[in-house]
Amino acid sequence: MHLEGTVLVGPDFEPVEGRVVVADGEIVRIEETGVESDAVILPAFVNAHTHIGDSIAKEAGEGLSLDELVAPPDGLKHRLLRDADREEKVAAMARTLRFMEATGTGTFLEFREGGVEGVAALRDALAGEGVAFGERAIESVVFGRDDPDVLSVADGYGASGARDADFGAVRAAARAADKPFGIHAGERDAADINPAMDLEPDFLVHMVHAEGIHLERLEDRGTPVVVCPRSNLVTNVGVPPVRRLTERTTVALGTDNVMTDSPSMFREMEFAAKLSDLPAREILRMATVNGAEIAGLNRGVVRKGADADLLVLDGDSDNLAGARDLVRAVVRRAGHADVSRVVIGGEPVVPRDG
Ligand SMILES: [Zn+2]
Repeated sequence: MHLEGTVLVGPDFEPVEGRVVVADGEIVRIEETGVESDAVILPAFVNAHTHIGDSIAKEAGEGLSLDELVAPPDGLKHRLLRDADREEKVAAMARTLRFMEATGTGTFLEFREGGVEGVAALRDALAGEGVAFGERAIESVVFGRDDPDVLSVADGYGASGARDADFGAVRAAARAADKPFGIHAGERDAADINPAMDLEPDFLVHMVHAEGIHLERLEDRGTPVVVCPRSNLVTNVGVPPVRRLTERTTVALGTDNVMTDSPSMFREMEFAAKLSDLPAREILRMATVNGAEIAGLNRGVVRKGADADLLVLDGDSDNLAGARDLVRAVVRRAGHADVSRVVIGGEPVVPRDG
């Protein structure tokens, strides 16, 4: 198959009028044809931090603090999850997966609660087990927790935070299994940042309260950070120093809990761009190739040999028509209604089913 339009090529998203040729799930070449088309072709998004398990609890808990909302074991999220049956939770996750595909996300890095069974429930949602609309194409990179055995079924370990427990043993187990270890740090304050960094994680999540010493440590070890600025605003813990983090290390964007924020990368990009005022290209890298790099995947960029995960927008939609700066318009203005096609692993996902 091939896609034709203005192709945003490489990590700098250089616009090329032409086509992307795809075979066997890979981008085999990019041809400059000079053919003008309204389509805008960019890499599908990589959402670098999600908790989709709480898809049953959207917008619950107005006015609650971060701990009241999500702290285990008795935060509102955990009580609602205990009260819901498995079938309902899997169906809600499946609808979130379909929404993520429809809004251009090809891959997501999921922090999954509930040990081995929690991972199994997500895999059922991906497989369309008991869900009317069937299997999803979106690819998950699942970070399990709550059980040392979870590493036998998950792609990595995703720790809640260094103040909750001693993660030394699971960190070592992840290393022995050659699987990545990620951990939340610096969400409500700075106290758990150094202990998290002492574990030599493969990446950190949040870092809202990163101070000078932490930025130096990030730079020294080259530890990437996933930021979730909308989530941090909603839970009233502040906003991450996105610009200062990008000066020191690789930064990727995540939408965090479905309970608090819609898992649309368009919304996260717009918010992060306007909050930080970083160049649009930098924000688009945070929404694509940087997250892929954290997950060790060759995608999130339109180049020969990369996985064919692609998003096509209608550049002549009422929302995007007349844009003077295409990349800036994609980052700060585009949304779900501008999506005309989504291709994951070389296969069309949108349009596909109703
Ligand atoms: Zn999280």
